[in-house]
Amino acid sequence: MLELTVEQISIGQTAVDKSAALRLLADKLVADGLVAAGYLSGLEQREAQGSTFLGQGIAIPHGTPETRDQVFATGVRLLQFPEGVDWGDGQIVYLAIGIAAKSDEHLRLLQLLTRALGETDLGQALRRASSPQALLKLLQGAPQELALDAQMIGLGVAAEDFEELVWRGARLLRQAECVSNGFAAVLQQVEALPLGDGLWWLHSEQTVLRPGLAFVTPDKPIRYLGQPLSGLFCLASLGEAHQALLERLCALLIDGRGQELWRATSTRAVLEVLGGELPADWPSARIALANAHGLHARPAKELAQLAKGFDGEIRIRLADGQEPAVSLKSLSKLLSLGARRGQVLELIAEPSIAAQALPVLLAAIEQGLGEEVEPLPTVAAPVDVPQELAAPVSAPAAGSLVQAVPAAPGIAIGPAHVQVQQAIDYPLRGESPAIERQRLQQALGEVREDIQGLIQRSQAKAIREIFITHLEMLDDPELVDEVDTRLKQGESAEAAWMSVIESAARQQESLQDALLAERAADLRDIGRRVLAQLCGVLAPVEPEQPYILVMDEVGPSDVARLDPARVAGILTARGGATAHSAIVARARGIPALVGAGASVLLIKSGTPLLLDGQRGRLHVDADSHTLQRAAEERDTREQRLKAAAEQRHQQARTTDGHAVEVFANVGESAGVAAVVEQGAEGIGLLRTELIFMAHPQAPDEATQEAEYRRVLDGLGGRPLVVRTLDVGGDKPLPYWPIAQEENPFLGVRGIRLTLQRPQIMEAQLRALLRSADNRPLRIMFPMVGSVEEWRQARDMTERLRREIPVADLQLGIMIEVPSAALLAPVLAKEVDFFSVGTNDLTQYTLAIDRGHPTLSAQADGLHPAVLQLIDITVRAAHAHGKWVGVCGELAADPLAVPVLVGLGVDELSVSGRSIAEVKARIRELSLAQARTLAQQALAVGSANDVRALVEAM
Ligand code: PEP
Ligand code: MG
Repeated sequence: MLELTVEQISIGQTAVDKSAALRLLADKLVADGLVAAGYLSGLEQREAQGSTFLGQGIAIPHGTPETRDQVFATGVRLLQFPEGVDWGDGQIVYLAIGIAAKSDEHLRLLQLLTRALGETDLGQALRRASSPQALLKLLQGAPQELALDAQMIGLGVAAEDFEELVWRGARLLRQAECVSNGFAAVLQQVEALPLGDGLWWLHSEQTVLRPGLAFVTPDKPIRYLGQPLSGLFCLASLGEAHQALLERLCALLIDGRGQELWRATSTRAVLEVLGGELPADWPSARIALANAHGLHARPAKELAQLAKGFDGEIRIRLADGQEPAVSLKSLSKLLSLGARRGQVLELIAEPSIAAQALPVLLAAIEQGLGEEVEPLPTVAAPVDVPQELAAPVSAPAAGSLVQAVPAAPGIAIGPAHVQVQQAIDYPLRGESPAIERQRLQQALGEVREDIQGLIQRSQAKAIREIFITHLEMLDDPELVDEVDTRLKQGESAEAAWMSVIESAARQQESLQDALLAERAADLRDIGRRVLAQLCGVLAPVEPEQPYILVMDEVGPSDVARLDPARVAGILTARGGATAHSAIVARARGIPALVGAGASVLLIKSGTPLLLDGQRGRLHVDADSHTLQRAAEERDTREQRLKAAAEQRHQQARTTDGHAVEVFANVGESAGVAAVVEQGAEGIGLLRTELIFMAHPQAPDEATQEAEYRRVLDGLGGRPLVVRTLDVGGDKPLPYWPIAQEENPFLGVRGIRLTLQRPQIMEAQLRALLRSADNRPLRIMFPMVGSVEEWRQARDMTERLRREIPVADLQLGIMIEVPSAALLAPVLAKEVDFFSVGTNDLTQYTLAIDRGHPTLSAQADGLHPAVLQLIDITVRAAHAHGKWVGVCGELAADPLAVPVLVGLGVDELSVSGRSIAEVKARIRELSLAQARTLAQQALAVGSANDVRALVEAM
């Protein structure tokens, strides 16, 4: 990343003209090994295309895209010209910043500089600077302003206690990039200051990046140190930036008006009282930037100049960013956005000029602001679409075969039902408020009718409830009032409706509560429905017969909501096989393919699809012969499963009499009866986090005990292997905030997290021990990576066990982290059992995110490296007389069963639907044959080789 340092600065340089200055710069860049000798011509060509003069005596010469291949390393060199160099048009440069950049890193530099560019008379100061240090200080600019806007305020956030409220405040600051990770922990150490009126104040300078103030109020009364806690200020303090705000706040408190803050029902009201940045209630419009190199100096200059032609205020912000809008007329502010190709810009204009200015500015941006632009792909892709998916693609042709990641087995045949959001264009200004109001009412009426139809047709209660919530949202009087205000200002029904919906959704999201964030998604969903109705864009009609749902990506809750009677199969552009959504699809028996690439989103709804969830293949508009063969295979598989199902209650023994236990993975007490009925000999993995997720708040000890009791009751004496709470990574708990992490999968998850919250872990352990009643209970800890973690968890459990005795208790760990597998010989002496979580073990061994859109197909648990770790684990366990289970998705893979049995795994734990099939597979094997196979598998080089070995068996 580009940063400014004193070593890059040479002061006291002279150059007779611009060419000489460029030569000096190029020589410096070459001498320092940043660029090849020919880079000078790149600098010259770039100046010929347009001056790089920025203002305030600064120019930023850089090469053209064609000369990027001459850059060896990204970097900058700064030359001070105290006598000035004429850069053309009478613009005098005192500081030339030569940039060698391989891509768009220079945008970051521009962002850094723009703080300084806001200063008056900077040019003269730069000219006079007598040392690199002094010059750097000038560039680093004036004291920063305190960040305080709507995004920094969270009203009525879910918080149980002071600690959680602090965490919420710190998180707002983190999201606004005022602080780095760890600020929450810093604040927890600081003594809070009571301000009176239920308001509290916390501040720190540690880990602060820029000054900012967050204000949060709890959703229910909280007390702290014996006093009410109704509102909390968290200040990321840097210099004097907060001084004015603090004075204002003191005056407010002296006037006895503190309650206005925590009683406020809108962020706007809080900002009005505190004097923060008010969101402008002005017409706005959005457009995606198509310029290849983002909004760099040249197009930015063009845009700022165009804006200056309008007599009124116009602002701009990144639609997906946290930063407040900045003036569109200021080149430096524009550059400070650091906007890249594909990012959506929001332009906001004073009502008096909006109707003229916005269309002109949008058109200019669309046309590239003086640059030739390649249009962006038309499919409205989510902002974080990976590059490989964002590239323009075409739909797979009829008769073609698409390879994807097999996520849930089974063959599904049906028409495609594509659910992708298309961008909808609409006018910003309306004909008249009366006409626009009438159009909106009509659209709302039609959408209301549609939703009522959906409610009637939905059989699942959870789905009906979602639509009922949508109806309530449509009738929300506050939304209607706000839309009407905008209509009166001359906006079109579409523009007024969408901006109100978007700001309501953003407000929900700013509360940083996962449940409310889901409401934001619901709001956007109805927002789009109404917009589509207004614009006459028809949504694809849900086919009558069972269909293949095609989406960009599905979340576990999306899959849980699907009606398997209507959805024959799932096909997604992104995702991986061990992502939790794929696990839910498997558990629900819906065949699924994931990670098929963006092209599948271009398939026309209604196109006949054939999806093979076992082999990972999608046939598009297959010929009748292929369809017939697939249908036959589907029927054969069904028959095989039927035959296996008849023997589901019998033990699984190999042909030479070796018994392997087949247990079930479950996530809720309600599922126990079903898995027993499906042939489970016990539960091999109770994912307790799913029980926690099913509650709106952390279930207390008694609630948990009742849940665990229900599971044990349902098992009728069969063993229960329970995993303690495993959250973090891709499994957040809505009510249990976890600090944002760069790499959540490598962060505080599983046992690491619960050991940090011993009260929660102890409550869970107590509930488990109490529920046992001498029935066989096995407790295991997720994500253990060291002996200390295991011992801490074990000691805690043993301590509680002295209070709550349990006769038949075993304690074990999950083997999900390579370090645990490698330490198995040490751990095996102390644990009662191991259970291998192959989903995570594979991800951590192969360094492939289990949900990665394109790589996860390679995250195959049959990789010999993963098998080696399982082998170490089993050998170590057996040497000490302990047993080993496998509870990851690999246990249910028909090709993996012989290998795992051959490695000596004693128990396989799979989803209820797979039990009969896995048992049938074990019965086909001999242990001797499986052992030989396993030894061969350990000796090959790839998962594909292992699969080939098994197929050839
Ligand atoms: C695993 O990692 O294999 C496992 C069973 O745990 P989860 O999939 O819930 O992370
Ligand atoms: Mg896991």
